This record gives sequence, C-alpha cells and structure tokens, in this order.
Amino acid sequence: MKYFAALLLPLLLQAQANIQQPGTNWTDEQLRKAVAPARVGRKLTPKSWPNNAKVAVCLSFDVDNEAFLLARGETSPTTLSAADFGAQSGLGRILRMLDKYKIPASFFIPAVSAVIHPEQIPAILKSGRHEIGVHGWIHEFLPALQSAAEEERLLNQAIDFLTKAAGKRPVGYRAPAWAFSEYTLPLIRKAGFLYDSSLQAMDEPYEIVANGEPTGMVELAIDWTLTETPYLGRSGTMPNPELLYQLYRAEFDGAYQEGTMFLLTLHPHVTGHRAPMQQLEKLVAYMKSKPGVWFATGEQIAEYVKKTAKEAR
Ligand SMILES: [Zn+2]
Repeated sequence: MKYFAALLLPLLLQAQANIQQPGTNWTDEQLRKAVAPARVGRKLTPKSWPNNAKVAVCLSFDVDNEAFLLARGETSPTTLSAADFGAQSGLGRILRMLDKYKIPASFFIPAVSAVIHPEQIPAILKSGRHEIGVHGWIHEFLPALQSAAEEERLLNQAIDFLTKAAGKRPVGYRAPAWAFSEYTLPLIRKAGFLYDSSLQAMDEPYEIVANGEPTGMVELAIDWTLTETPYLGRSGTMPNPELLYQLYRAEFDGAYQEGTMFLLTLHPHVTGHRAPMQQLEKLVAYMKSKPGVWFATGEQIAEYVKKTAKEAR
C-alpha cells in the first residue's frame, strides 16, 4: 500500500501540474452560463407524504451487469463473469428480499442487460410492485458520444425495447454512469419522462431549471455517498459493508427527521453478494420497524410530488 502511494504521488502531482484551468479567467457571465443548463428550481418535498408518512424511501437498483463492459468492447470471460453475477445471483437475492418485506423498488436497466438476460424484466415485474426505468441502451457514456443524434438514437432504441419488454413505457430516467451530456436534459424532456434520477444537487425532490426555464421535470437526486460502488467491489475502498450500512442508516435517520426522502442506489452485481445483502436486509428491517415510512418507486414519488406541487399553486 505504502509502496503504491509513494509511486503514485509524484504522478498525481505531475498530472495536477498539467491540468488546464480555463475557469480562472472566466467572466461572471461565463461562470453563470457554465452552471445554467441544469439547476435547482422549486423544492418539491410535499407538506405531507401519503397516509401522513414521515419520509419517502426509494430503493433503486441499476441493473448494469455486463452492459457497461460490452459498451467498451470487453470480451474477457473473467471480467464479464463478475458482471454476470448480477443476473445469475444478485438480482434474484434482491427480489427475494424485497418480496419478504413486501416493498417496492425501481430498477433502472440498460436495454442490452435485458437483451442478454431476457428473464430479468419478467422476474422484476412478477410481484407487480416494482418499476422499470431507462438506464441507456448499452450503458453508453453520454459525454463521450458528442452527438445529439447518436444520443437520441440510443435513447429511443432503449425506450422502445423496454416499453415492449415491460409492456409499459418507462417514465423514469437515470443516465448511464450518472453522466449527462449537454444534450441529455433536452432529449429526455423531448421523450416526455416524468422524472430524472441522475443529478445530485439536493437530497429531497426538486424541479430542474434549464437555462432559467422551469422544466416541469422532477429530479429525484442520487449521490455517490448513497451508492456502494466507491466502497465495494473491485475498485472499492471499504471492505466492511457494515460500516457502509451504518452510513446509509444515518442518512435515512436524517431524512426521517427532516421529513423528506431517502433514495439509495445499488447494483445487483455488487450488492447482490452475500455480505452486503445481509447489511441491506438489516437496513430494510430497521426502516420497516419505524412508523410512517412510505416505501415507494421513483414513479410513485415523482407523481405524488408533482401533483401536490400543482395543488399548492
Ligand atoms: Zn449504471
């Protein structure tokens, strides 16, 4: 570990020395323009949640499996098998746990993940509680496409595929790798999504404002603290999932006190392993033990906050 740190530090310093910093010379107007495309508008936390619940909880799962690897042209059977774990073992465990507690969840799926594993969507839809959302065609990294037309082609291909496979047009969108390009927000507005779940500016629902214009698009924001990939798995830095779930529980407790929303994003190929699953189940049991917790899909939350915001006007 020390050896690597000693090796990496000079490289990091060198990389930082070469970093371009055009923003140092931007005018106030340039600075404001840079941040304008997707800003926070109205806060959409309602005065009360359904049945006077204190907090809304959305468990969401990004069902990536091999898609992001295939997008990069990965063909190593070993590398692909570690991602296949999500379909072979992880998803089933997650669905069984959700069934045990009879709670809903939102599953964001790159279409290619369902092409390779056609059994996944029927398995998710079986209970009638869960939502299918769009997570790209093949988990394409949108900023690298650099083409509105190509981005739209892949988006529409994903929507068409998932609509057919799920028997219902998805209303929720989450950008692959949570990365918008400059075209993404205009494209998902054009496609008529009810909500996005890719931005990170607040830990309660809000309306996205694009270049000063309220979009009507609900944002159910995510966060790198509220996902497991920085901590677990191949590049994870926290080998003890118990600590991770202590963090999630404290986040839930805060949302409960504030009366807002707790949204967690996990991955079947990472969280589906035994140890994190035990911790996830402990967290769910803890949240279930509290009075006034509304477990809902992103769609249910977005619909509710949009409706109550309209009535409040
Ligand atoms: Zn993903």
